Amino acid sequence: MTTNKTKIDTLVVGAGQAGVAMSEHLSRLGVPHLVLERKRIAEAWRTGRWDSLVANGPAWHDRFPGLEFEGLDPDAFAGKDQVADYFEAYARTFNAPIRTGVDVTQVVRNSDRPGFTVQTSDGVIEAQQVVVATGPFQRPVIPPIAVQASSVQQMHSAAYRNPQQLPEGAVLVVGAGSSGVQIADELQRAGKQVYLSVGAHDRPPRAYRNRDFCWWLGVLGEWDAETMQPGKEHVTIAVSGARGGHTVDFRKLAQQGMTLVGLTKGFDNGVVSFEANLAENIARGDENYLALLDAADAYIARNGLNLPEEPQAREILPDPQCLTQPLLELDLAKAGVSTIIWATGYSVDYSWLQVDAFKDNGKPKHQRGVSSEPGVYFVGLPWLSRRGSAFIWGVWHDAKHVADHIVKQRTYLNYRDASQRQAEHQASSQPVSLMGAR
Ligand SMILES: Cc1cc2nc3c(=O)[nH]c(=O)nc-3n(C[C@H](O)[C@H](O)[C@H](O)COP(=O)(O)OP(=O)(O)OC[C@H]3O[C@@H](n4cnc5c(N)ncnc54)[C@H](O)[C@@H]3O)c2cc1C
Repeated sequence: MTTNKTKIDTLVVGAGQAGVAMSEHLSRLGVPHLVLERKRIAEAWRTGRWDSLVANGPAWHDRFPGLEFEGLDPDAFAGKDQVADYFEAYARTFNAPIRTGVDVTQVVRNSDRPGFTVQTSDGVIEAQQVVVATGPFQRPVIPPIAVQASSVQQMHSAAYRNPQQLPEGAVLVVGAGSSGVQIADELQRAGKQVYLSVGAHDRPPRAYRNRDFCWWLGVLGEWDAETMQPGKEHVTIAVSGARGGHTVDFRKLAQQGMTLVGLTKGFDNGVVSFEANLAENIARGDENYLALLDAADAYIARNGLNLPEEPQAREILPDPQCLTQPLLELDLAKAGVSTIIWATGYSVDYSWLQVDAFKDNGKPKHQRGVSSEPGVYFVGLPWLSRRGSAFIWGVWHDAKHVADHIVKQRTYLNYRDASQRQAEHQASSQPVSLMGAR
């Protein structure tokens, strides 16, 4: 460890979209700050996703207010590298003070003076504020039911890149949120036999009556919902911008040859078992889909909008056999399954952040990103302030709130009472009077 010690007012850890947004607001408000990023700007978009991933929202929506995607149709879906390029370009627009290749390894509150001592792979930093922008999706989570010893290759969706990477044979994809459903679709189109384990999900229409679902969730106020509906904690959202964007339709995937199964329950001697809840999960997803169409129709009627009717959006395909007679068990060897892909989400890693800002369950204790440890802030987490918080269009607004809070606190801390002001004034005027005496 070098002895190099830097002092900075505000340290931002992580230069994904959350860190870049934070830096923009701090720059605008004149707060001296530094962003440390262990890899590169927007690394998660660059190397942490599968090759064909495109943004889930169209380019006009999945961006920050200050910059459009260059050379991209506003209704198109940016590829993952275009998203990474976008954030790099964005950071350049305001000359963001980002240092890449620096890992923050420890943050502790100073015991004898304000602020924090930050250990990094490139020396020690003293910071008055620390903003944690390390992302909600850090550690891939594979549930404990996963088979321990098996001839089947297993990977998390974070490690999936493309169909060529997988060995010959069928694939079981566990989890049918946006990642699982897109990966399953890609593998099936590449000629693989795919089993897709479907849990509770929402599946908004990709577009309805000439408006993308991002627009609908915006005008209907759903992105701004401040609390998750009770019971929705484990409900994923199945949307896709792949191939120009289409509504996720599980019956259509089954028609293409995919076998849908219920929630994965466990493994025993090479046999995987599934909950008997496939029909219920699909029905709930349909309900969510139709409810959005209803809300959109009501919005159009109430506001007298001239948007074309789309009755065909309400047509639901007949139930496939895998839905009416669902598989409750699958012998992996007999079915020729050579790979299991766990599209089962992520958790966070705050082992380096040794401050009093966490609940008993390890989750950050905060209000709109302002943590219970004065001077520590979080941005980019799901539901930090609202439904949109972990997404590109939401994090920018949360970062603005956090930056405003930092400025308010700095104003308090910079306050000097009359005697302090006088002492400071005298100290600063002394050299002048000395010069005059010569
Ligand atoms: C598969 C997938 C697809 C998604 N698609 C979309 C989409 O289409 N639209 C959308 O709005 N959202 C999408 N999201 C959600 C979200 O926008 C992304 O996950 C986004 O990357 C989160 O940005 P972030 O800045 O909060 O975190 P990250 O992008 O993960 O950035 C955090 C950064 O912190 C760095 N870091 C971590 N720890 C340290 C440390 N100790 N020291 C230094 N640096 C550190 C990391 O290297 C990383 O670069 C998607 C998420 C996933 C998983």
